[in-house]
Amino acid sequence: MRESDRDAWDRAVHLGGTLTAQELLGLPGGVIIRRLYPEEDVRVFDPVPVVFRCSCSRERVAAMLRMLGHEEVRAALDEQGKIDVQCEFCNQHYGFDEIDVAQLFVAGAVAPGGSSRH
Ligand SMILES: [Zn+2]
Repeated sequence: MRESDRDAWDRAVHLGGTLTAQELLGLPGGVIIRRLYPEEDVRVFDPVPVVFRCSCSRERVAAMLRMLGHEEVRAALDEQGKIDVQCEFCNQHYGFDEIDVAQLFVAGAVAPGGSSRH
Protein backbone atom coordinates (compact mmCIF):
# COMPACT_ATOMS: atom_id res chain seq x y z
CA MET A 1 0.00 0.00 0.00
CA ARG A 2 1.59 3.25 -1.08
CA GLU A 3 1.04 6.47 0.80
CA SER A 4 -0.34 8.12 -2.32
CA ASP A 5 -2.90 5.32 -2.65
CA ARG A 6 -5.79 7.42 -1.42
CA ASP A 7 -8.62 4.94 -1.84
CA ALA A 8 -6.75 2.02 -0.27
CA TRP A 9 -8.85 2.19 2.87
CA ASP A 10 -12.14 2.35 0.96
CA ARG A 11 -11.03 -0.60 -1.12
CA ALA A 12 -9.98 -2.58 1.94
CA VAL A 13 -13.31 -1.91 3.62
CA HIS A 14 -15.27 -2.75 0.50
CA LEU A 15 -13.46 -6.06 -0.04
CA GLY A 16 -13.65 -6.81 3.67
CA GLY A 17 -17.42 -6.41 3.45
CA THR A 18 -17.63 -9.35 1.04
CA LEU A 19 -16.34 -11.72 3.70
CA THR A 20 -18.90 -14.20 4.95
CA ALA A 21 -19.30 -15.33 8.53
CA GLN A 22 -18.38 -18.87 7.50
CA GLU A 23 -15.10 -17.75 5.94
CA LEU A 24 -14.31 -15.65 8.96
CA LEU A 25 -14.96 -18.54 11.33
CA GLY A 26 -13.54 -21.33 9.21
CA LEU A 27 -10.33 -19.98 7.69
CA PRO A 28 -7.04 -18.95 9.24
CA GLY A 29 -6.43 -15.18 9.27
CA GLY A 30 -3.50 -15.38 6.84
CA VAL A 31 -5.58 -17.23 4.24
CA ILE A 32 -8.44 -14.76 4.51
CA ILE A 33 -6.14 -11.79 4.04
CA ARG A 34 -4.44 -13.28 0.99
CA ARG A 35 -7.77 -14.19 -0.59
CA LEU A 36 -9.33 -10.82 0.07
CA TYR A 37 -6.38 -8.72 -0.95
CA PRO A 38 -4.46 -10.61 -3.63
CA GLU A 39 -3.30 -7.32 -5.18
CA GLU A 40 -1.82 -5.91 -2.03
CA ASP A 41 1.55 -6.39 -0.47
CA VAL A 42 0.33 -7.75 2.84
CA ARG A 43 2.66 -7.89 5.79
CA VAL A 44 1.73 -9.37 9.15
CA PHE A 45 3.69 -8.12 12.10
CA ASP A 46 4.65 -10.20 15.10
CA PRO A 47 2.20 -9.72 17.91
CA VAL A 48 3.39 -7.55 20.77
CA PRO A 49 1.80 -8.22 24.15
CA VAL A 50 -0.02 -5.26 25.64
CA VAL A 51 1.26 -4.31 29.06
CA PHE A 52 -0.07 -1.57 31.21
CA ARG A 53 2.63 0.50 32.80
CA CYS A 54 1.83 3.72 34.56
CA SER A 55 4.46 6.42 34.54
CA CYS A 56 3.43 7.88 37.85
CA SER A 57 5.87 8.02 40.74
CA ARG A 58 6.20 9.61 44.12
CA GLU A 59 8.64 12.09 42.58
CA ARG A 60 6.08 13.17 40.02
CA VAL A 61 3.38 13.62 42.62
CA ALA A 62 5.83 15.62 44.71
CA ALA A 63 6.59 17.84 41.72
CA MET A 64 2.86 18.35 41.18
CA LEU A 65 2.40 19.36 44.82
CA ARG A 66 5.28 21.82 44.52
CA MET A 67 3.60 23.33 41.52
CA LEU A 68 0.43 23.84 43.50
CA GLY A 69 2.44 25.92 45.90
CA HIS A 70 3.19 25.78 49.58
CA GLU A 71 0.13 27.73 50.66
CA GLU A 72 -2.31 25.53 48.79
CA VAL A 73 -0.74 22.30 50.03
CA ARG A 74 -0.46 23.66 53.55
CA ALA A 75 -4.16 24.52 53.55
CA ALA A 76 -5.09 21.01 52.39
CA LEU A 77 -2.82 19.55 55.02
CA ASP A 78 -4.44 21.62 57.77
CA GLU A 79 -7.86 20.60 56.58
CA GLN A 80 -7.28 16.87 56.14
CA GLY A 81 -4.30 16.14 58.35
CA LYS A 82 -2.39 14.67 55.40
CA ILE A 83 -2.25 14.84 51.64
CA ASP A 84 -3.70 11.86 49.82
CA VAL A 85 -3.09 11.60 46.12
CA GLN A 86 -4.46 8.76 44.07
CA CYS A 87 -3.26 8.19 40.53
CA GLU A 88 -6.35 8.14 38.35
CA PHE A 89 -4.73 5.75 35.89
CA CYS A 90 -3.33 2.97 38.08
CA ASN A 91 -4.94 3.76 41.45
CA GLN A 92 -1.58 3.92 43.13
CA HIS A 93 -1.87 5.87 46.35
CA TYR A 94 0.65 8.45 47.49
CA GLY A 95 0.41 9.87 50.98
CA PHE A 96 2.23 12.93 52.26
CA ASP A 97 2.16 13.80 55.94
CA GLU A 98 3.28 17.02 57.57
CA ILE A 99 6.95 16.04 57.54
CA ASP A 100 6.82 14.97 53.91
CA VAL A 101 5.22 18.27 52.94
CA ALA A 102 7.82 20.26 54.88
CA GLN A 103 10.57 18.39 53.03
CA LEU A 104 8.87 18.99 49.70
CA PHE A 105 9.12 22.69 50.08
CA VAL A 106 12.59 22.73 51.55
CA ALA A 107 13.82 20.88 48.48
CA GLY A 108 11.53 22.88 46.19
CA ALA A 109 12.93 26.18 47.41
CA VAL A 110 16.40 25.18 46.23
CA ALA A 111 15.53 24.09 42.71
CA PRO A 112 11.87 24.23 41.72
CA GLY A 113 11.22 21.67 39.04
CA GLY A 114 14.86 20.70 39.07
CA SER A 115 16.28 17.23 39.30
CA SER A 116 17.36 17.30 42.93
CA ARG A 117 17.28 13.81 44.37
CA HIS A 118 17.64 12.59 47.91
ZN1 LIG B 1 -0.22 5.71 38.14
